[in-house]
Amino acid sequence: MKLLEDRIRKDGNIKAGNVLKVDSFLNHQIDIKLLNEMGKELKRVFSDVEVTKILTIEASGIAIAAIAAQYFEVPVVFAKKSVSINIDGSVYSTKIESFTHKRIYDVIVSKKYLSAEDKILVVDDFLANGCAVDGLIDLIEESGAQLQGVGIAIEKGFQEGGKRLRGRGVRVESLAIIDAMNDETGEIVFRQ
Ligand code: 5GP
Repeated sequence: MKLLEDRIRKDGNIKAGNVLKVDSFLNHQIDIKLLNEMGKELKRVFSDVEVTKILTIEASGIAIAAIAAQYFEVPVVFAKKSVSINIDGSVYSTKIESFTHKRIYDVIVSKKYLSAEDKILVVDDFLANGCAVDGLIDLIEESGAQLQGVGIAIEKGFQEGGKRLRGRGVRVESLAIIDAMNDETGEIVFRQ
């Protein structure tokens, strides 16, 4: 998506350790006009599949998921990073290793909000090694819902997540795929 690629080039900040900071429009301050176009594009790309809910993970996936959900006209459920244990069996749970924080979170979704009748589109802001998406897919599988696809704002194509998920037969569509980025020169190469 050219609009997003141009914005990444203009305002993205490449940090050491393969981290792209996009705090000025996606991860801290949010450019609603841009996200609106991104949400519209996700709907266009996934217009051929039935979706009853969008699933994301807090915190940074919520904004893009919520805006996309307006076009799909479905609710958004966000998985919560939790410290409480699933004592009464009322939640689906899994563990996710955070790429940016390098720690493992317990992640939960209430059984009230995901069921075997649901057809789920997973949406997230970034795809790197794919741990976040793997965890969300675990929750979907636990619930018996059907995974319809994964919509990502920015995929770092030089990390393994996208390749691995597609290799497993998961439909992954990313609005921008970065094939290379250099924190010293600032150069970014997008996949055509
Ligand atoms: P993964 O689980 O695919 O390794 O990483 C995806 C998650 O880590 C996303 O939910 C996102 O919040 C965060 N993330 C991964 N790479 C980056 C990055 O380069 N920049 C930012 N801002 N977040 C990232």
